[in-house]
Amino acid sequence: MKYDVLVIGGGMGGLAAAITAARRGLKTAVAEADQRVGRKILATGNGKCNFSNTDPEPWNKFNRPSFVRPVLEKYGGEALLDFWRSVGIYPREIEGRIYPHSMEASAALNALRTAAEKEGVDTFVSDKIEKVQKGFTAGGHRSGAVIFATGSKAGTGFSSYSAVFPFGHRVTPLYPSLGPLITDKENLKGLKGVRVPVALVVRTAAETFIKNGEIIFKDNGISGSAAFDMSVLLARLGYPSNAAEIDFAPDISEEVLVAALKTIPLEGFVHKEAAKNIRAAAGAGGASKEAHFVKHYPVGAVRPGHITLAQVTSGGLETDGFDPNTLESVYEPNFYAVGEVLDVDGECGGYNLMWAACSGIAAGNDVLSR
Ligand SMILES: Cc1cc2nc3c(=O)[nH]c(=O)nc-3n(C[C@H](O)[C@H](O)[C@H](O)COP(=O)(O)OP(=O)(O)OC[C@H]3O[C@@H](n4cnc5c(N)ncnc54)[C@H](O)[C@@H]3O)c2cc1C
Repeated sequence: MKYDVLVIGGGMGGLAAAITAARRGLKTAVAEADQRVGRKILATGNGKCNFSNTDPEPWNKFNRPSFVRPVLEKYGGEALLDFWRSVGIYPREIEGRIYPHSMEASAALNALRTAAEKEGVDTFVSDKIEKVQKGFTAGGHRSGAVIFATGSKAGTGFSSYSAVFPFGHRVTPLYPSLGPLITDKENLKGLKGVRVPVALVVRTAAETFIKNGEIIFKDNGISGSAAFDMSVLLARLGYPSNAAEIDFAPDISEEVLVAALKTIPLEGFVHKEAAKNIRAAAGAGGASKEAHFVKHYPVGAVRPGHITLAQVTSGGLETDGFDPNTLESVYEPNFYAVGEVLDVDGECGGYNLMWAACSGIAAGNDVLSR
């Protein structure tokens, strides 16, 4: 059977594209490599699926603000919430982040699957497309247009960029983003599992970056919001060489600490395991050395954690190869790419699912419309 539109990849971007194209009367199919569509959606937002944000200028949270802006202006905000309502999901806002009202990622995925089925989308699972050929043929499918929505390796370890290299698209270097960071191990003794509010400071030759938030110590590195937020910055720079340190008391100046440590022990300021390490680092240096290490506890150079532990990949298909209004390829008419397979990454807060859905809707609206 020849389809009007073949969507390759049944994640957030692919399902939004397929539903939108099918609603326009186009005969649409989704080819999904996995045994089921949307597996990654189930893991999002700790199972709650933070799919958007009330941020009035969300494009500023992306690596390529001018590329994502036209699509987010047109299909983000209230228009995106209308899309979710149209598939049967009422949104709930918590501190600017938007979730399904039930706070269940499974409800969001079920709604997308049901909407695709209702619109007559044919879904093929365990159907990995190795190459898209001009024309279009892909795997056992023929179609008048292709929407490429294969996502990234983040969370899964599995990606498919090369399937579209024949069209002239290139892929930028890929780095794990929104994930844990590896650090030097020796200063982490006894800290595994400890969760503390800190400022994480990373110095590169060019700049100093500071992220306030929580860190959770792991065997060989750090996780938690401060580490995740820092990984976004470092991934966009390709993880340059750096030196990192932890400020265990970002709310107290070093001078105040030096004075206070004369009467209050380290444990009065920091977690008891951190206090042990700080005391060992300070040696016989007294209150001023202890205060120094509370504020500047060294953890060596930070490096990216494994891609399967990251939420997003920084890098992907070069955005120069696609029209920012429609996501159509500038090299190959009727070929589109949407979602995370593109070199687009957003910060934590619902921005990545927002991009995947909005870009899918944009392509689904444009495909075979001229
Ligand atoms: C643990 C975790 C939590 C997250 N939480 C959030 C959150 O709360 N909010 C947020 O905004 N973002 C979150 N993200 C990021 C977000 O999930 C992704 O950015 C988004 O899902 C990307 O959507 P996508 O459709 O582009 O790709 P994906 O969801 O990755 O879907 C791509 C699909 O294509 C399939 N595929 C790949 N290659 C082929 C092929 N050759 N042939 C056929 N099919 C193929 C894959 O199996 C997959 O199903 C999270 C990510 C992870 C890993």
